[in-house]
Amino acid sequence: MDVVMGFAAINAALKAVKSIRDIDKDFDKAQFKLVISELTSSLADAKITLIDANEEISDLVLQIKNLKEQWAFGEKLVEKDGYKYYPSDDGGPSGEPFCQVCERNDGKYFQLTRSKGHIEHTCPNCKSVYHHVSSYMSRDYLRAEKKMHAQERE
Ligand SMILES: [Zn+2]
Repeated sequence: MDVVMGFAAINAALKAVKSIRDIDKDFDKAQFKLVISELTSSLADAKITLIDANEEISDLVLQIKNLKEQWAFGEKLVEKDGYKYYPSDDGGPSGEPFCQVCERNDGKYFQLTRSKGHIEHTCPNCKSVYHHVSSYMSRDYLRAEKKMHAQERE
């Protein structure tokens, strides 16, 4: 049930309330019961709609939070030759590059792993294979990676 149906249910409930007001003193008991039944049904529909809308809003808030975190993570990375890396202490690239396909398609960052020795890199998520991609293994690589993950947890 979507929000439009929720508004329709609320409108039906308001119409039922107006009918109750319009019933004159010599009201028909059966008519009164029918109007109350319609009112109850409309309010129940409106309640279900609001519960569904609340769940959708919660999902969207969570998605926005995740996207903001991904974006903030990407902003901290260093770009070199079209690939993103963890930053080294001197601001250069460090370690293995991140998958371009996952970043472009989902805005997510998966660090490539070496396959076939130093010839290929493979994405652990989408399984894309990259050839002739540079790695920047230095002493401060593990420190840079640790630092980024520590910032993620903050
Ligand atoms: Zn990928």
